[in-house]
Amino acid sequence: MTQTDLIAEAGGAVPIVSRSDLVVVGGGPAGIAAAISAARNGLSVTLIERYPYLGGLASGGMVLVLDDMCNGAEITVRGLCAELIERMERIGLCVAPPEEDRRSDETLWRKWSRWGVFDFHSHQKPQPICYAAAFDPDGFKRVANKMIAEAGVNLRLHSWFSRAIVEDGVVKGVVCDTKSGRQAIMGSVVVDATGDLDVAASAGAPFTHGSYIVTTVFRLGGVDVEAAERFEYDEPDAFNAIDRAIKKLMGGSWDKWWLRTPLPGIVWCNCPHMVGYDGIKVEDLTRADFEGRDRIDAVLTHARQHLPGFEKAFVVDVAPQIGVRQTRLLDGVYVVTKEDVTRRRHFPDSVARGRDYYYPYRSMLPRNVGGLIVAGRHYSATSSAQRISREIPPCMAMGEAAGVAAALALESGVGVDAIDVAKAQAILRRRGADPGDAPAANATFDEAAA
Ligand SMILES: Cc1cc2nc3c(=O)[nH]c(=O)nc-3n(C[C@H](O)[C@H](O)[C@H](O)COP(=O)(O)OP(=O)(O)OC[C@H]3O[C@@H](n4cnc5c(N)ncnc54)[C@H](O)[C@@H]3O)c2cc1C
Repeated sequence: MTQTDLIAEAGGAVPIVSRSDLVVVGGGPAGIAAAISAARNGLSVTLIERYPYLGGLASGGMVLVLDDMCNGAEITVRGLCAELIERMERIGLCVAPPEEDRRSDETLWRKWSRWGVFDFHSHQKPQPICYAAAFDPDGFKRVANKMIAEAGVNLRLHSWFSRAIVEDGVVKGVVCDTKSGRQAIMGSVVVDATGDLDVAASAGAPFTHGSYIVTTVFRLGGVDVEAAERFEYDEPDAFNAIDRAIKKLMGGSWDKWWLRTPLPGIVWCNCPHMVGYDGIKVEDLTRADFEGRDRIDAVLTHARQHLPGFEKAFVVDVAPQIGVRQTRLLDGVYVVTKEDVTRRRHFPDSVARGRDYYYPYRSMLPRNVGGLIVAGRHYSATSSAQRISREIPPCMAMGEAAGVAAALALESGVGVDAIDVAKAQAILRRRGADPGDAPAANATFDEAAA
């Protein structure tokens, strides 16, 4: 069969199963935040998710450190992300270093670095311990469920977005595929939080097609973490030789291939990294999953035989979702560049922050489609900019801003591209978020980007 073979599809009416002020597609970090934020600002909200749980890559992808949320000592992502962290801490499923431990120091490095809570952008040695949070994936799901339920969001899991319903260039709702057939969900505003820009692409918004490494994240149990750390620091040469051999089998990983989790004896492995796969291509995703599991087998066998602390290790689970970092990126009203991020460029219409950089509201707006806001890792950025500005906390901050923007648009009776951004910034501040309206001392300015 060639790529050009086609089959005609039967048309037909689709039942409308829900109408609300806002429809959020995608229940990952950005989508959860958008839905809660809009509901807390008075909108009726329907949240659609294809999988049977909330959290996206954070829980289903088992990406278990919330980072990229401080600029030196200043915490730049607050609001709903901070609330989520506090609530996970309260049930003992999230660990963050206390303020007095957040600096560069050998002893603190030894205490905290295997939690993954250090500033990996810093050139200081050892890299400073910073505000970041290591969490449990089921804890994330549980707290997200509670927050969504408390906000009164109409949550529809098991619903695959299929196409956007567009009238005269404005998105009016979406059609989902479900076990009960196709269903239409109508909304006055729609937020695309699919991470892969499914809604905006279907609605005809321009986009670019980026890519980056993909990862089959996994967790190991039965690890004697203390013994492993003792070996690492007491016998650095022997440790380095084994670590290098494991990384070679892995074929690609960050420097620390395993990190602690809040659960005793269980570590998470943000690896193996694999290149050359397209995160929205069925064939590629299938092959990547097989390749990832083969590499995990090889790593586990070697670690059990050679790495102290890992003698009795076993695979607890491989993340149900393969870790796709980048696919389609919105080509929106403003496209954030790598220079904008690295130079910490401030924008007057900033509505969210990452570690030391800012997200202009224009980077969440498609150029030619109305009624639609884009929030999350598919926001309007170049591929190289997105690689360094796509972590979970800033995606939540974008989602929180999208919820406020939708509420303002409906309250003022204007399109989402015509809201009073200063008002959105003020609401976000009032609710405890940091929209980035007050630039930090190390921000830079460029009239052309404003
Ligand atoms: C391996 C890996 C490691 C990473 N490491 C870190 C890290 O250490 N710290 C950090 O902060 N960030 C990390 N990131 C980045 C971070 O996980 C993502 O950028 C972030 O989760 C993006 O959030 P999002 O809500 O935009 O998208 P996603 O998390 O992708 O969520 C999108 C949601 O939309 C749903 N969805 C998608 N398509 C459809 C559809 N058609 N119909 C219905 N629902 C749909 C998905 O199921 C998902 O729930 C990592 C990413 C990967 C892949």
